[in-house]
Amino acid sequence: MAIWKEIMSGSIREAGDIAQAFGLTRAQASAVISRYPALVNPYFRRLAEEAGDPLLLQVRPDPSEISPLNDSLPEDPIGEESFSPVPNLTHRYPDRVLFLVSDRCAVTCRFCTRKRKVGRGLRVTPQTIREGLRYIAGDGRIRDVLLSGGDPLMLVDDSIEDILSRLRGMDHVEILRVGTRIPAVLPQRVTPELAAALSRQRPLYVHVHFNHPAEITPEAVLACDLLADAGIPMSSQTVLLAGVNDDPDLLESLFRKLVALRVRPYYLFQVDVVRGTEHFRTPLRRGLQIMEELHRRTSPMALPYFAVDLPMAGGKVFPALHHVVALGRPDQALIAPDGTTIPYPDPL
Ligand SMILES: *Cc1c(COP(=O)(O)O)cnc(C)c1O
Repeated sequence: MAIWKEIMSGSIREAGDIAQAFGLTRAQASAVISRYPALVNPYFRRLAEEAGDPLLLQVRPDPSEISPLNDSLPEDPIGEESFSPVPNLTHRYPDRVLFLVSDRCAVTCRFCTRKRKVGRGLRVTPQTIREGLRYIAGDGRIRDVLLSGGDPLMLVDDSIEDILSRLRGMDHVEILRVGTRIPAVLPQRVTPELAAALSRQRPLYVHVHFNHPAEITPEAVLACDLLADAGIPMSSQTVLLAGVNDDPDLLESLFRKLVALRVRPYYLFQVDVVRGTEHFRTPLRRGLQIMEELHRRTSPMALPYFAVDLPMAGGKVFPALHHVVALGRPDQALIAPDGTTIPYPDPL
């Protein structure tokens, strides 16, 4: 058996094991995971036990997930279902689609935007894959396909390559993307064979997902090296999480480490307004202040976009603290990195 499958077979998911592993009562564990299932593989479990809260919080079921406070929050705030022409595919932006090709993950992230589905309603079958592919083939506007799930890299190599090569065969599809948390949570899955399979489908980008410097282990470094050496451009979609990484020093260190790993920080996501994840959400001001601070300290090489996926299916936006004073007026000015206001006139 492949090493990564062996590791996965040691995962915990039952209430008793989860309670014991994370210091919950059995009743607490079962109340939470009967609503939102849990799965933690032994690699990430050990790492989390060593690193403490910032990693534990990401995978430990928490009674806050099911507190009544959550009941008023939507399950699908960003409207993935309302823009879904066929099951497991979201066509929200004309030129690109989100295509869920796996219903499994290597760990269940408690802050998951799709926690309404993953481990619950989400079913990927040969039929849903076929329907998705047929939909993409039939819409010439789609030039960019983002595979997600679940985690696409939980599929075996042949299945991944089959889906990718079918997409590659469509003339209008220019780029392929794979969104995955694998390098952070099950880096052993990234084998030379997988890297070669992905590399054959170029141009293909991999969006990895690191939230904390402690996730960058020697194993994770090896996984990223394999992908980068195979010529696969990588970027990270980090989620801003209260109590985990909502700190400019920590994020600066994370983003620098990622750049050194040949991973460009792409997004810093605000947690979506989604039922069951409210305890991870930071005030908008916090994210803006962190970005402002990072702008001052670091090169754009290490600077992601701060991204907010709006409720009511409003789409993604990239708010920035305004650097402009008196926009369009004769006294228009820009705020310099040291905080001074410098007049910046428009052309005469
Ligand atoms: C975020 C997202 C994409 C990809 O968008 P980029 O901003 O180009 O990375 C595609 N479809 C949906 C539904 C999304 O939410």
